[in-house]
Amino acid sequence: MEFIILGGTVLTMGQAGRIREGAVVVEDDRIIDVGPADELKTKYRRYERLTADKCVIMPGLINAHQHISMSLLRGYADDYPLREWLEEHIWPLEAKMTGYDMYVGSLLTCAESLLGGVTTVNTMYHYAHPDWNEARAIAEMGMRGVVGHVCFSWRREEDRRALEDLAKRWHGAENGRIRVSVDPHAPYTVGPDYMVELRRLTDELNERYGDKGPITFHIHVAETADEPEKIKEAFGVEVRKGVFAYLDELGVLKPDVVAAHCVALTSQDIEIMAKRGVKAVHNPVSNMKLASGICPVVDLLRAGVVVGLGTDGPCSNNTADMLETMKFAALLQKVARGDPTALPAEAVLKMATLNGAMALCWDEIGVIEPGKKADIIVIDLKKPHLTPLYSEESHLVYAAKSSDVKTVLVDGQIVVGDGELKTMSLEKVMEMAEKAREDLLSRLEE
Ligand SMILES: [Zn+2]
Repeated sequence: MEFIILGGTVLTMGQAGRIREGAVVVEDDRIIDVGPADELKTKYRRYERLTADKCVIMPGLINAHQHISMSLLRGYADDYPLREWLEEHIWPLEAKMTGYDMYVGSLLTCAESLLGGVTTVNTMYHYAHPDWNEARAIAEMGMRGVVGHVCFSWRREEDRRALEDLAKRWHGAENGRIRVSVDPHAPYTVGPDYMVELRRLTDELNERYGDKGPITFHIHVAETADEPEKIKEAFGVEVRKGVFAYLDELGVLKPDVVAAHCVALTSQDIEIMAKRGVKAVHNPVSNMKLASGICPVVDLLRAGVVVGLGTDGPCSNNTADMLETMKFAALLQKVARGDPTALPAEAVLKMATLNGAMALCWDEIGVIEPGKKADIIVIDLKKPHLTPLYSEESHLVYAAKSSDVKTVLVDGQIVVGDGELKTMSLEKVMEMAEKAREDLLSRLEE
C-alpha cells in the first residue's frame, strides 16, 4: 500500500523534530518520506490520502514491559499485600490457565493496546503451547512484539524446550513483526548458575537466529528493596553491593539486557548499568499500585542509561494505557524529587517511543524517518481537554487520553481506523474473554 498522511503536526522524535502542517509518506511496510505537507502533496500526488488535520502524527508507542496474557485476571484480586496476592490469589488461578486462555487474554490486551496507540509490546509470560500463545495473538492482531518465555530455576528442562521452540517458530516471523526473548523471571527466582546458563543460551540463540534481529534478555531486576534478602533466602547468595553488581559478577550483563523496574538501585548499580549498556524499563503505575518504590529515572538518564516505559501486566496496573503511564511517569519523578522541572513532557515522550525502541534493541522503530518501519499513530487534538493548543508534547503527556487515538498503522497496515479496530472484531474478542474467564473460574472450583 502507498499513502500519504497529511496535515497536523508530525512529531518525528528524530532529527527532523516537530513539523507543523507536515506529512508522512508510506510505501508497503516502510516510511519513505517526511516533510512539509505542501511539498510532499505534489511530490506524491497519486498516493492515497489520509487526512490528519488538527491531529498529531507520531511514532507508535512502545510498551517495553508487559505480561499480555494476564488480562483474564484483571481485577480478580486487588489491594492485597504482595505475597498474599500472589500465593493465595494469582498463582492458584494462573495454575489453571491453558494455552488457549493465554492466547485469548493476549488478544484482549493487544486490542486494548492498539486502540490506545501502542504498536509494539515487550511481553514476558509462559510459552506453554506451540499453537496457543502470545505470539499468535500478536501476529493475528497485526501488532509488533517481542515475546518471551519466563524461566524459573525449578523447571530448567521445560524452559529450554520452550525457548528453543519459541525462537525457531517465531523469531523474525510475520515480516519481522515478531521477535523473541529469553526471560529469566528475576534474580530471586533464577539461581546464579541458571542465570549464567540462560545468558549462554541467549548468545547461542543469537548465533543461530540473530540475522533476523537480536534476541534480548528480559528480566525483572530490583523491583523492591528486599530483593537481596529474597536472593539470599532462595539461593544462599550474599548480595551486598546491589543487584546489578551481583549480576555483573555473574557476567550476564550486556546491551541486550532489558531490565524491568530498577527501583532499588545502589549508585554502583547505576554505574554498572551505564558501563554494560543495560536498558531499564520504568513501570510507574505498577510500582505505585504494589507500593514497590520509585525508580530513580532522572539519575539513570543522567548516567546515560536508556530508560523505556512500560505498563507491566494487567493485574498490577490494571490497563495497557501508555498515555496514562506517561503522565504517571512525569508526576512520580516530580513528587519524588520535590522538583516540578524533573522529567519534563518531552523526555517522557521520548521514553515511550525512541528509548523504548533502543531498550528493545529494535532500531527500525520508535521514530518517523525515511527507511524506518511504518508504525505510526494519529492522535486527534480536536477535543475539549486538548483545547487550546500551545505545546503538542504537553498535551500528549498531561492531557490526552487513549480514546483520542484515531488511526494506528503497524508495518504499513491500518490496524485502527477512526478509532475502530480493523484486524479483528472487538466484540468477538471481548466475548471470547468473558467465556474464557467463566471456564477458568469453573476449573478453579473443580
Ligand atoms: Zn512484570
